[in-house]
Amino acid sequence: MASLETTGIQKSESLAIIKVRMVLVHVLCLTVFILPVTEQIIYWSVVLFFVRVFAWEAGSHRYFAHRSYKTSRAFQLFLALLAASGGQRGPLWWAEHHRHHHRESDQPDDPHSPVHRGYWFAHFGWLYDPRYVDTDLDKVKDLSKFPELVWVNKYHYLFPYLVVIALYLLGQYTTVFGSSGLGFSAIVWVFIVSTVLSVHASSCVNTLAHGQKPGFFNLRRFNTDDTTTNVWLLCIPTMGASWHNNHHRFMNSARAGFYWWELDLTYLVLKLLSLFGIVWDLQQVPDHILQEGRQQGAEQQAS
Ligand SMILES: [Zn+2]
Ligand SMILES: [Zn+2]
Repeated sequence: MASLETTGIQKSESLAIIKVRMVLVHVLCLTVFILPVTEQIIYWSVVLFFVRVFAWEAGSHRYFAHRSYKTSRAFQLFLALLAASGGQRGPLWWAEHHRHHHRESDQPDDPHSPVHRGYWFAHFGWLYDPRYVDTDLDKVKDLSKFPELVWVNKYHYLFPYLVVIALYLLGQYTTVFGSSGLGFSAIVWVFIVSTVLSVHASSCVNTLAHGQKPGFFNLRRFNTDDTTTNVWLLCIPTMGASWHNNHHRFMNSARAGFYWWELDLTYLVLKLLSLFGIVWDLQQVPDHILQEGRQQGAEQQAS
């Protein structure tokens, strides 16, 4: 095997391929109107959607970007593979650009702030900007010291294809989805639709939890230096990531829903995994920040 560089710039695929694939998957979503579908296919599409959201929120975001809990090297690799198979590029790429986002949140150099770049650039455009497609391994040295993570990051685009092949074989030659002969339906519904929706759920955190005037659907509990809000309406499809104002107040926490009434499915799954010793040292929110949030939240309700 050729040696793997663990420092410097790791080049991405060609931008042209990335753009063509983005257009193609969106067009293929439209074939749901003509392809045969079964209850089982819908069920697995929903399951895969939440698996993808968990992959980017628990894996790429809370683990690789923020290191908000600990795990074994083996489960770390599993999270990296899960994240890569979810179509949001490599986990080191994700972590590098997300750390950049926190450093510059809603400032002119933020890669995806709707305040400075507009809604569509923040939702999608930045993903196809040459400034943000490669991975600077030196900016994520805590992760790039693991050669297996660098390898997954480099070849991230292969893992979604493996899932596609597996789903085609299952759909075409087994009755897992209700009957055989459903290979293309399995690819489109179970892989493409779930993946595309999970990517949009992630992008909605950039665009609906930043740069929006607070209102009924999005509350601003903490007076952070950015424009973040907590979008309670999106807490289920983002598995808790939309408690984004909380998260920008204390990004090191393994939970984004800071209070028991702020539903955070990612944290609940992480708690469950901690019971089995798969993850541990889930970082908690300090008491003074919880107190600050209660006070500021009460003041906002009173005003
Ligand atoms: Zn943010
Ligand atoms: Zn974050």
